[in-house]
Amino acid sequence: MSSVNIRAILQHHSKQLEVALNLDSSSARIEVQCLLQAVLQVNRAWLFTHPEQSLDADQHARYMTLFERRLRGEPIAYLLGEREFYGLVFKVSPATLIPRPETELLVELALQRIPQQGAFRVLDLGTGSGAIALSIAHARTSAEVVAVDASAAALEVAQFNSQRLGLANVRLLQSDWFSALHGERFDIIVSNPPYIAAGDAHLEQGDVRFEPRTALASGANGLEDTRRIIAQAREHLSTNGRLLLEHGYDQAEQVRVLLQRAGFTGVFSARDLAGIERVSGATR
Ligand code: GLN
Repeated sequence: MSSVNIRAILQHHSKQLEVALNLDSSSARIEVQCLLQAVLQVNRAWLFTHPEQSLDADQHARYMTLFERRLRGEPIAYLLGEREFYGLVFKVSPATLIPRPETELLVELALQRIPQQGAFRVLDLGTGSGAIALSIAHARTSAEVVAVDASAAALEVAQFNSQRLGLANVRLLQSDWFSALHGERFDIIVSNPPYIAAGDAHLEQGDVRFEPRTALASGANGLEDTRRIIAQAREHLSTNGRLLLEHGYDQAEQVRVLLQRAGFTGVFSARDLAGIERVSGATR
């Protein structure tokens, strides 16, 4: 096999990815760069300054395996094994949802309500990779963060991330929503539950196809888990405790009504960077 240099790979494979996955050309190029960086263990600057560098046979074989998997649609985050969220790097696996940028809004709204100092109890329901819980724990080291998930495989990933971040204020627990939290109360409860309608065509497109269905779909209208959480949240909140929930682009009104009917006060919704009402919250 003739040697292939970085410039040629970038040119040909960016185009192939662009067409196969219907990506815009700059995203496709960035993805090829990321795969090359992972295989060559180099940073972006090195890649840009060494376009003539050839891959040796072993590097080429490892690169091609990743490229072909990406070409078949596997999410780049699973191939790289990590994703950045709120300025931190999180290990991800097919057992966990891939953290989304819009979920940073949930973290920001939570941090606005958690004091910089002093005891404060935080609960994250359905933590997955731990992106939300660990970002909060990292920013508020005097808060005690409990993060639960029904999936043992997801909890292992969250545990790895917690250790790698050196966090001492996180407790991870296997629990189906509140099932393992009998009698426990928190000052704030946050969650990015599954909220897509089971029959939604979105579930058959792009990265989402490879993500855990249990982290995405929630009954016929997408609100089954949100309803369960809202119904049980007040008995797990301290006086004036807050609940913050991420939801779908068209669910804000329904979630506000559910919160009001459950007896919450101060019900509100907040918009993400795309201007979409993405998180709703309330006070016990
Ligand atoms: N925002 C994700 C998506 O649309 C869904 C995440 C979720 O269901 N919590 O793909």
